[in-house]
Amino acid sequence: MNLDEVSKGHAGTELTYLHEMNLRSDQAKIVKLVPDKGGHVYLLLDKTIFHPKGGGQPSDTGTITGSEFQLTVKKAIHHQDAIVHWAKVVNGTPKIAPVTCTLDWPRRYSTMKRHTAAHLLDHCLGQSSNTHVVTTDSWLGEPCYVAYRGKAPSRDSLRDIELLANEKIASGGTVSIKFMRKEAAAPLLSQAPNFERIPDLEEIRLVILAGCAPIPCGGTHVSDLKELQQLSLLSLQELPDAAFRLYFHV
Ligand SMILES: [Zn+2]
Repeated sequence: MNLDEVSKGHAGTELTYLHEMNLRSDQAKIVKLVPDKGGHVYLLLDKTIFHPKGGGQPSDTGTITGSEFQLTVKKAIHHQDAIVHWAKVVNGTPKIAPVTCTLDWPRRYSTMKRHTAAHLLDHCLGQSSNTHVVTTDSWLGEPCYVAYRGKAPSRDSLRDIELLANEKIASGGTVSIKFMRKEAAAPLLSQAPNFERIPDLEEIRLVILAGCAPIPCGGTHVSDLKELQQLSLLSLQELPDAAFRLYFHV
């Protein structure tokens, strides 16, 4: 399916998940439907709690229910200014109508914990190595890792990083979100671990873990570091060109 066909003429989806990460269910309206094979549909909502695949996060899944139909959302895809939902029709005939959207919360909450833990790892690696940490990518599905540029840490350093992360988790601390104009955020961004991968947006969304430098990020995170409970570094994989991955569990 050409997603241009689906998103054509759509003014853009309101991204509720950027502001309300703990919203498990929300009312919305289907504004466009395009049938797909195998009893699937592509659909656009006026606003969505479904975070698409991107920034290391796997897509949210869940259900969309109207008064006379039910859909299972298998994938949310960011395309141009729209979030395109790819869903299986479970019963009834979907139509342009008000609906209730519900996330597969265990899956989303796991992603939120992993995403927050990934930022905490960036911070603890920086503290341990006393250098500016640069991330090259991450994946918060299975298996879960963050990739960094530079020399891989020693076994002792890995133990220190894990210890430091778990101390911060045990102490707890708020995880907050702040929106800033690009110019105002610029001095903060040059030190960010994902500096090279920040999209060119007029408004930057910063995630701030208590006691850590702000990181530009469009993902979903928990509200307090305590929610992470325990972070374990599972393995280190050295990559070509002086880079490495840290696989972790939280
Ligand atoms: Zn994030």
